[in-house]
Amino acid sequence: MSKALELVRPDLHVCHASKIPFREFCHEKGISGYVFDLDNTIRHKEYGLDKAAIAAIRQGVKANYIKSLVILTNTIQGEERVAKARKLAFRVGEDIGLYVKAICLDYSKRKPKSDGFYLAIKEIGSSRSEIAMVGDQILSDIKGGNKVGLFTILVDPLGSYSWMSVISGRTIRNQWARWRLDL
Ligand SMILES: [Mg+2]
Repeated sequence: MSKALELVRPDLHVCHASKIPFREFCHEKGISGYVFDLDNTIRHKEYGLDKAAIAAIRQGVKANYIKSLVILTNTIQGEERVAKARKLAFRVGEDIGLYVKAICLDYSKRKPKSDGFYLAIKEIGSSRSEIAMVGDQILSDIKGGNKVGLFTILVDPLGSYSWMSVISGRTIRNQWARWRLDL
């Protein structure tokens, strides 16, 4: 496999965030820190936070398989989106019983650039081998996570992509990468 393709290959692919084996990861891999993408990973564009995903994370926290969680999101459409992401992170935190910070990345620092990932690792405060990145986009979430040495988990998107993703060509590039990786 080419190096470029290797960089976008997730370590694990599950259909939904609730299928992540938090217990196994904690016990067998020593992973207990999580960086979650927001849109289409735990938030549906129309229905809001995904109840099943949040419930699974809550259980993971309760059982101490998840010790810290950060939300890492590209918010390139301005302040309003940043405020909304922060509010949602607060809500997730209340729901799962853990402080959850939202790291919002503007255009210059957007995933897959490493800036945000470094901030997330610092916020979690453990070594990279103990942290997993969870997201629906191969070319931002997975590529960025792989670049900085996190364990990467691809989930199927909760809903359709935004018009920005479609127009920018991100949707088609992601589909292409999935096809090449046989996912
Ligand atoms: Mg996403």
